[in-house]
Amino acid sequence: MGGAGSPRLGCVLRIDRATYDAIVAHAREDHPDEACGVVAGPEGSDRPERFIPMLNAARSPTFYEFDSADLLRLYREMDDRDEEPVVVYHSHTATEAYPSRTDIGLAAEPNAHYVLVSTRHHGEQTGLAGDEVEFRSFRIVDGVVTEEDVEVVESYLFGHSPTTVVYD
Ligand SMILES: [Zn+2]
Repeated sequence: MGGAGSPRLGCVLRIDRATYDAIVAHAREDHPDEACGVVAGPEGSDRPERFIPMLNAARSPTFYEFDSADLLRLYREMDDRDEEPVVVYHSHTATEAYPSRTDIGLAAEPNAHYVLVSTRHHGEQTGLAGDEVEFRSFRIVDGVVTEEDVEVVESYLFGHSPTTVVYD
């Protein structure tokens, strides 16, 4: 697999603290429904820079669906700004932060980092404010799910600083 010439993107999601926190906050806010959104970035940069929370048109605790008109508008806007969806995120509210069969079937962006946040009750963790949440990132290409590391940086301005925290 992975023949010569196939695009090889880094197997890590590098995301800044503010964006990470915004995704987690959105997931908590919409709990018990699933929350979803996109973080756009300059094409080819692999930098998630512009946080765009979306509406879960399904308003469901077990499913998410971008509103098709919103999504069309977003894609036009990203196109105008030479951006692409670097991160596509959604939450799971009762199950682990791992793509479901449906999620895998709907994943249409081979270059995107698919982020899953789980706000479920999990042992001592309630998933709510003050507790840790599961925050995981995956590549989904042709139905194949590959988990990758998540690296939270304080800011892109300082790049890969010694204060970087690696979650896995
Ligand atoms: Zn899902």
